This record gives sequence, C-alpha cells and structure tokens, in this order.
Amino acid sequence: MSVSPDHAVTISGLEKRFTRKQSSEVSLAVDNVGFTVPRGDFFTLLGPSGCGKTTTLRCLAGLESADRGEILMNGKSVFSAEARRDVPPEDRPIAMVPQSYGIWPHMKVFDNAAFPLRYGRKTCSRTETRTRVLAMLEQVGLGEYADRWSTQLSGGQQQRLALARALLCEPEVLLLDEPLSNLDAKLRAQLRSELRSFQQKFGVTTLYVTHDQGEALAMSDTIVVMNKGRIEQIGSPGEIYDSPASRFVADFVGSANLIPGVADGPADAGAVEVKTSIGLLRCERFATPPAGVREVHVCIRPEHVRVVGEVPETILANRFPARVTATEYLGDRREVVIAVDDVVLRAHADAHLAARPGDEVGVELDPAWTVALWS
Ligand code: ATP
Repeated sequence: MSVSPDHAVTISGLEKRFTRKQSSEVSLAVDNVGFTVPRGDFFTLLGPSGCGKTTTLRCLAGLESADRGEILMNGKSVFSAEARRDVPPEDRPIAMVPQSYGIWPHMKVFDNAAFPLRYGRKTCSRTETRTRVLAMLEQVGLGEYADRWSTQLSGGQQQRLALARALLCEPEVLLLDEPLSNLDAKLRAQLRSELRSFQQKFGVTTLYVTHDQGEALAMSDTIVVMNKGRIEQIGSPGEIYDSPASRFVADFVGSANLIPGVADGPADAGAVEVKTSIGLLRCERFATPPAGVREVHVCIRPEHVRVVGEVPETILANRFPARVTATEYLGDRREVVIAVDDVVLRAHADAHLAARPGDEVGVELDPAWTVALWS
C-alpha cells in the first residue's frame, strides 16, 4: 500500500461480515471499502441507514475487527487482517464522540472534560489539567458551566462538552458518529456550523458519519457516499452534488429528475447525446462509459430545469413544450411539476411565475448541468 505523509488515514480493501444469531445468515456490512483521508480534512461517510458507515467508523476506532483489509493511521498500520495486527482502541491516535455523547451524568462538566487528562493516554499534572480543561471549556462556550452537573446542560451544550473532552485527548483523528442526531432541527443547523468552525480552528482530521445529506454538503471537505456496504462515490460536496456518479447518489444527495435513455454516441468531445422518450438530450456532464454500456439515465437537478413562458416553436437541444401539472409556492421559489409527454419533471421556478396547472409552457434542461449516468 502506498503511504503519503499527507494522509491521516488510509483504508484499503476493508470487509466486515456479521452473522445473525437467530438465522445464521451472513451479511456483508462493509464490502471492499477503501479511501484516504488528507490531513486536516473534514471527511464524511454519508449513506442511508444500514449502509455500513458506522461499522466502517467502528473498524477505524478498533471497536470492530474487520475480516479483510488494512488500516493505516499517520502512515502506521493499526489493523491488518493479513498480518493479524489489531491495535486496541486506546493505542490508536483517535478520539470518538458517539451518538449518545457518552457523558457521565454523575460528574460535573469539568470532571467530564478532565477525564482523558486524568486517566487517558496522555495524563498530566493537576495544575495543567485545570488550565487546559478551563481553556478548552472556554473555547467551546462552556466556560461558565464548569461547576454544573452535566445533566443540567442542554442537548447542544452536552454535544459541545463531548467535543471538548474528545479534543482534550489531542487526537490525530476525531471520529464523530451522527453527533447531531439527538437535537432538534434548528439546533442541528446552528451546531453544524459551530462544529465545522471548531474543526477548522483545531485543524483536527475528522471522520464524520451521517445520513443527513444537508449536513454532509454543508460541513465536509470530502464526502464518501455509501450504499449497501460499498462506496458509490468519493468527492467534494460540489462534485457529489453537481456530477453524481450514479442514480443512487443523484437521488440520495438532493433531488434529481432522472430520465432513462440510450446513449447515441458522443455529440462532440464535450457532450454525450441521449435518445429519450421526449427527444434527444445533450449532457455536458458525463464520465467515460463502461465498455459496451449504452443504457443511461439523464439526471438534472430541479434548479437547472427552466420553465419558460412560451412553447418553443422549433425543438432545440434540451428544449421542449410541456404542460404544468402542479405548482407550490414556497416563499423563495415556486416548485413546479411539469409533464413533457410521459415524463414528469420537477423544476424550481421564480416564486412569481404566472403559470398554473393546465398551462402550456416551454421547458429547458440546461445542457451544462445535465448529467449522463451509466449506473
Ligand atoms: P445507521 O445509520 O442506521 O447506524 P449504518 O449505515 O451506520 O446505519 P451499520 O450500523 O454500519 O450501518 O450496519 C451495516 C449493516 O450491518 C446493517 O445491515 C446492520 O444490520 C449490520 N450490523 C451492524 N452491526 C451488527 C452486529 N453487531 N451484528 C449483526 N449485524 C450488524
């Protein structure tokens, strides 16, 4: 395995099977997963429930032993199925914040935060512990709560305490498993930007698990989209959203119009043309097709479907006559459902669009944002 000093974590060929006790059925929770995490990155594992993201994180933490594969942290192997190496969690350069935060209710805020400095990998003197804990509590906005019982904190404050305790371990890699999932929607939105700015302030490499695509897009440097134990795509939030690699990614991250068709060969170097039931569609976003594959789905996000007042007289590339079937006013925009023959498309239109259900309109699918998906 090639090791770069710029990578905090490298995983290759990771596989983890579980056997269900009652039925003895074997399931492959993690299936040949591999990725590298650049140092200082906010790296998110995103996918639906059961896709294997927590199991991957637990393998990194040393709380699960994989059946195959290797894990390197800071260039050092902490797990190798082949070499039968499995460094225990306490000897890995990590700190983990579980979903439940793992805060002790019988301790005060200060003692919870001080725990790793008193009993962890790198213990320090009483005076130093006091200085460092108080400074950290101050940094996460809990300076005045040090003497409170941890049960007297709100959900958001508990989350910050868990983060403070993890950061006091000075980990090379911070592992966060859905740390915002117990909070209400408003607090989640507030804390996700807080969490991101803490991560940037401390510069700690962070692996974050979530099933919330909004959270992943807002916080991450890199997103890994997982499905059924496998990786569907790795990329920046912009790459994942604007150039999804598969129908699964297009549909799971944001909303997408998907139109089946057959690739009619490259129109030119910059586009693929796809024959669909509504006509020929020009897709300027595409990956190299797998050999022999011509079946394709055209993907376009609702914000790139333009509803124009008049019905086009001549059919240009990606421009069609359509009929409005429903509209919904959402304040900042109007969601419009339109039918082009038998294909139903969703569009985000101007909030003051005059068209109403039954009206004939024109629709344009911007070729620059139209993606050809081979899988
Ligand atoms: P969630 O968001 O619901 O936590 P996830 O993507 O994190 O889901 P995992 O918890 O990694 O998914 O689970 C992946 C698969 O492995 C699931 O099918 C799950 O039922 C199974 N699994 C996980 N842990 C065990 C276990 N200890 N014993 C048996 N099966 C397990």
